[in-house]
Amino acid sequence: MFCEACHQQEATVHLTTTFHAEGLAPEAGTQREQHFCQQCADSYFSCTPGMNSARDLICLSDSYRSKLYDLLEAAHPEAFDNTDAEACRRGSELMRDFLREHLRKDKIEVNEDAFGMLCSDFFCSHHFYSRVDDYRRKNG
Ligand SMILES: [Zn+2]
Repeated sequence: MFCEACHQQEATVHLTTTFHAEGLAPEAGTQREQHFCQQCADSYFSCTPGMNSARDLICLSDSYRSKLYDLLEAAHPEAFDNTDAEACRRGSELMRDFLREHLRKDKIEVNEDAFGMLCSDFFCSHHFYSRVDDYRRKNG
């Protein structure tokens, strides 16, 4: 499938966006799929309000991330429980607050977009999934 913006490159980024029409119930929104190549996705994210954080420009260092996971595991082991959607939702809220608190403590100021990028690195790194596996082994 080709990128829908440039029609030149293979689409590697697939987004599902829900559009809400004025005056309709939220569930009446229509879903639209968009397919972009990496480059067009990047410019789409940068010029769409609320999407800049999806650009993946910055991430946590391995050592800082693993330090945070250690602290998180000691304080809130349930954050590594992703057995169902509800647990995942709770876990990601917990991690978001946790990351925000620690950046503040370490006097690292980031804007909302940068924070969003760091959050997604914090939630989605493969290190997180190996911690989740450990948690399961210990508690399952
Ligand atoms: Zn493109």
